[in-house]
This record gives sequence, structure tokens and C-alpha cells, in this order.
Amino acid sequence: MSDEDREIQDRTRRFVDEDLIPWEGHAEANGGRIPEEEHAAHKAKAKELGLFAMNMPEELGGGGMTTFQQVLVSEQIGRVTNGLGWCVHTPPAWAPDVVSREQLERWIIPAIRGERHECYAITEGGAGSDVDAIRATARRDGDVYVLSGEKMHVTSYNTADWIFFQGKIADGPNAGAHAMFFVDKDTPGVRLVREPAYTHTYPDSHAVVAFDDVRVPASHLIGDEGDGLAFTYAWFRYERLMIAARCCGAAERLIDEATAFAKERVQFGEPIIAFQAIQHMLADSLTELWAARLMTYELAKNIDRGVDVKVQHAQCSMAKLYASEMAGRVADRAVQIFGGRGYMRENVAERFWREVRVDRIWEGTSEIQRNIVADQLVKRGARTLVG
Ligand SMILES: Cc1cc2nc3c(=O)[nH]c(=O)nc-3n(C[C@H](O)[C@H](O)[C@H](O)COP(=O)(O)OP(=O)(O)OC[C@H]3O[C@@H](n4cnc5c(N)ncnc54)[C@H](O)[C@@H]3O)c2cc1C
Repeated sequence: MSDEDREIQDRTRRFVDEDLIPWEGHAEANGGRIPEEEHAAHKAKAKELGLFAMNMPEELGGGGMTTFQQVLVSEQIGRVTNGLGWCVHTPPAWAPDVVSREQLERWIIPAIRGERHECYAITEGGAGSDVDAIRATARRDGDVYVLSGEKMHVTSYNTADWIFFQGKIADGPNAGAHAMFFVDKDTPGVRLVREPAYTHTYPDSHAVVAFDDVRVPASHLIGDEGDGLAFTYAWFRYERLMIAARCCGAAERLIDEATAFAKERVQFGEPIIAFQAIQHMLADSLTELWAARLMTYELAKNIDRGVDVKVQHAQCSMAKLYASEMAGRVADRAVQIFGGRGYMRENVAERFWREVRVDRIWEGTSEIQRNIVADQLVKRGARTLVG
């Protein structure tokens, strides 16, 4: 770590410890919500600290951080529960290179400033892991595209004001090709179907959203017809790495909290840290955290070094797979160390136990990550991927 890297890490850690963690209990007790002025203050501070849009180019108003620095920030953000860390927002880093000037000014730059907010509508009832199975369509009609379909798990639909919509071109020479569009949420035909409850207690919803013949100007198409999947994969790679980083942060917090508790909690006349069964759970957790962290840091540095994108793809899958499964084991052990208190929602271990579960599911399940790794192993060999 350079001095600058360490300073960024320290700055983020202080923000998480002093401003965000104190609100966890309130958020959990209030459906993930904290007072609006407090949320605004968190967002303003994230901007002041240079963390907001850290992944976007400086010339557009973003933080311009290296991938490694972004991992250091995300790791600290991972130490807080209830989605409180989402005040450090990262708009789509793949976008500036591919969007038009009009799109940049209308959606991306306002997102970097925190004035507008996006959500992603890709997954459908019949298309989850198999993204290519989507049935949503985009039909060209003169100067407009008509978008139709129903999407689910649309995260942050309640806080977003525009949507990345992915559909297949309905007819013409590119029929069946994936295409991605900017869709303002208030466009006629965009309809909230329902906002189901999920396992974690977050303020952001995961909505089912219908697109009933939504007409958008052709200028809302991103890139060309057929480019949609490439943008989604770029986003997957980024998010998989950041999930790995957040899982390392979660594990560190869990280990710290469980160790502190074990040193204080007395049973049979002794602090429970004296029992080897407890020590071993902590030792295994720390060892696995170290492995996940080294993997995540090395991957981030590889990306900064410009390693081949296919190798990045496999390494992002390995880091996400290992770190998310590690965090699940660490959270489970932390609950065990806290005993009955670990089953109470006011306890950090209980919240993380629920929250890190989704890290094995979203942005590609553990099974899909293994498929990607195995596929790349067959094509490229172990030495290329981990040599
Ligand atoms: C909280 C949350 C937020 C989300 N946010 C968004 C969002 O903002 N936008 C969005 O578009 N999507 C979002 N998603 C969707 C998410 O990306 C999908 O849930 C995920 O990709 C898995 O798809 P699925 O749920 O349909 O599971 P399925 O694909 O139905 O999988 C079910 C099971 O089968 C296994 N499986 C499937 N295929 C294979 C295979 N080839 N080999 C081995 N096993 C296989 C899976 O691993 C899993 O265990 C979100 C999901 C959640 C839970």
C-alpha cells in the first residue's frame, strides 16, 4: 500500500466507524430507514471525503481511484450492516466510454454528482443465471423503441429515477440480440408490480417492474443493438470484485466483535475465549479472511496492471466465490460465539448472517462462478489464471 492508499483506507474506516455504524440499530428497528436528513448528511460526507463515485473518471467529476483503492474503500464499507454503506455510490464505470454525449450529460454526469440514481432491470421470472433467456423485447418503430417485458429483483427501484433496461431486439437484422436502454422511471408504461420483502433489512427495495409498451427515443439505446450483454458482463466483473471486498470487511468486523465478546463473556468461571472450541472458530475465521483478502487485493492490482480481460473475468469469479463463502462461514461462527445474543436482530452477527447470504446469489450464484472458473481453466490452464 502506498501512503495515499493507506490514507484512503483510514479515511473510509473513520467514516464507517464514526458516522455509519452508530445508525445500525436504528436502521434495523425501522425497516432499514434512518431519518432523511441523516441519510443526506451521510451522502454529503461521502462526497466531501472523495468516496462518492470513486470509480468514475476525475474529468467527469468522479474520484478517479485505482481499482485497488476502490477495493480498500469497499472493504471498509463492508464493515457496516443495513445498507448504510450504500451512501458511497458507484455509478456504472463502463458507461462513459460507450454512451453518447447526450446520454453522458443526461444520466451519467448527474449520477456522478449524486443528483440522479440508476437501477438495473435485467433479471426476469424465467431468466436468472441464464441471462440469455430474457424474454423482454425492444421493437424499433420509426424513431422510437417500444420496450416490453417484466423484470424482477430490480434493486433500488424505490430510490432510482432511471433504469437500465435490457431486452432482445424483436425484429430486423439484429433480431434476438441483447440491447440496453436508458429509461426514465416516469416514462408512461413503466409500472411497479410489487416490492416484496427480502431477508436483509435495507432501505432499498428489490422490485418487480413491468414495461408495458414503453416508448423511448432511439437515442436511448446504449451503444449498438447487440452490445447489451457486454455491458452487463463488465458490470458483473466490477461488482463481483467489490462484493469480495465487502465480504472481507464484513468478516473483519465479525471477527473483531466476536473476539471482543469472547474475551468478556464468562461461563463456567472463565471468559469463553479460554475454551479451545471458541478459539478454533476464531482462528479458522481469521485464516480464511487473510486468504480472501490477499486474493482480492491481488486481483485489484492485476486489474490496475491491465491483465487480460478473460483472466480478470475468471479471477473476479474466484474472488467473489471464495470471499462470499468465507463471509458466510465467518458470520455463522460469529452467531455461534455470541450464543443466544447472536440470534437477536440487535446483534451485528445476526444481521451480517442474514446480509452476507445474498453475496452467494447476486451477481451470479456460487455455482455460476464455479462454472466460469472451470470453463476458463479448461480454455487457459491453471498457470495463466493463478500462476
Ligand atoms: C437481493 C437481490 C438483488 C438483486 N438485484 C438485481 C438487480 O438489481 N437487477 C437484476 O437484474 N437482477 C438482480 N438480482 C438477480 C440476481 O442476479 C439473480 O437472483 C441471480 O443471478 C440468480 O438467478 P435466479 O435467482 O433466477 O436463480 P436461478 O438461475 O433460478 O438458479 C437457481 C439455482 O440453480 C442453480 N443453477 C442455475 N444454473 C445452473 C448451472 N448452469 N449450473 C449449476 N447450477 C445452476 C443456481 O446456482 C441456483 O442455486 C438480485 C437478486 C437478489 C436476491
